[in-house]
Amino acid sequence: MAGTFRNLAVVPRMVFGRGAFGQLEEILSSARGETGGSMIFLVDDVFKDHALASRVPVGKSDHRVWVNVDVEPKTVYVDELTQQARSLADGTPAGVIGIGGGSAMDLAKSVALMLNNPGSSADYQGWDLIREPAAYHVGVPTLSGTGAEVSRTAVLSGPVRKLGLNSDYTVFDQIVLDPDLIADAPDPQRFYTGMDCYFHCVEAICGTFLNEFSRAYSEKAIELCREVFLEKEIDRREADEKLMMASYCGGMSIAYSQVGACHAMSYGLSFVLGLRHGEGNAVAFNQLEEFYPEGVREFRRMMDIHGIELPTGVTRDLTDAQMNKMIEVSLSMDPLWENCLGPNWKSEMTPERARELYSRM
Ligand code: NAD
Ligand code: ZN
Repeated sequence: MAGTFRNLAVVPRMVFGRGAFGQLEEILSSARGETGGSMIFLVDDVFKDHALASRVPVGKSDHRVWVNVDVEPKTVYVDELTQQARSLADGTPAGVIGIGGGSAMDLAKSVALMLNNPGSSADYQGWDLIREPAAYHVGVPTLSGTGAEVSRTAVLSGPVRKLGLNSDYTVFDQIVLDPDLIADAPDPQRFYTGMDCYFHCVEAICGTFLNEFSRAYSEKAIELCREVFLEKEIDRREADEKLMMASYCGGMSIAYSQVGACHAMSYGLSFVLGLRHGEGNAVAFNQLEEFYPEGVREFRRMMDIHGIELPTGVTRDLTDAQMNKMIEVSLSMDPLWENCLGPNWKSEMTPERARELYSRM
């Protein structure tokens, strides 16, 4: 029988600090080993004309691949990138480094897994389907909030569903947390991604799965989010450092709990309407006062302070079939609803109630 308590896989090595990105070369050289295998850097193409591009420590036998995340990661893209990595390295590369937001980091996690596991990444969407350990992989966030830097999942849209590659092997071997790298992230993206952390933690704290491990990290993350998003006078450099740690704590919190109604509704929005994760969460959360009254009020204050205007009427032009699909996707997220409402959630969260909530978004 499986143990009662989750035996958490966590990132074994991390470096935190302003300028820490400069240590990446040294970190990789010890990871390469004596034979000096080649590393594949998957870098978000938003940095093509940015100073960061010239600081990526691409060595003689390494390769840099620009990745595009205009749409959030898909299994077909992961499969293409895996082939590209193999052919660039003329075999299996020694490691993969993902530099970017949650999307680029999830691409790096997925490619590292697929380098050592046969078939398509779509075959592994689910829980613990991955058989072989991943290639060495490193995460370098340039946006903070998703917690992807510490989580055991890589979220992918596949031919049938949007579902992560959830496994202990998904966890990064190393992360480099350098607050300088998120300095130029523009609003509203910075805000939406930061709110992903805030929502994760509100959902965890209000959830039925909560334990003290998760509460400790959630409370700290929420406190940091308040300092970052409610204090009008906060220095941006200080805020970036706090936001990076909030994301880390939020990710650690979710490792031992679960998200809830906001993420369940947001999945429906992104599946049918293609809304990005951060924006979809914000649109959903704003209508979930009946689940998270204090959180929603605080979120609205944060939006006010940062001058964020949410899209409205996003579900207005949906056909019946699309609306039904959205409801179906959302209500298929059993663990999220169970965390939110307990084991008998189906009696409370009916398709009619979901329709009513969606129609307000
Ligand atoms: P993102 O990675 O999707 O990036 C959003 C946009 O910001 C992109 O256009 C990107 O190019 C740009 N960008 C990234 N860094 C930037 C910077 N420093 N300056 C300017 N622009 C920058 O955004 P995200 O919110 O970090 O990640 C969302 C993704 O993460 C979704 O695909 C979601 O499914 C996934 N996710 C994963 C987990 C996990 O645990 N693995 C958790 C939550 C969300
Ligand atoms: Zn999220």
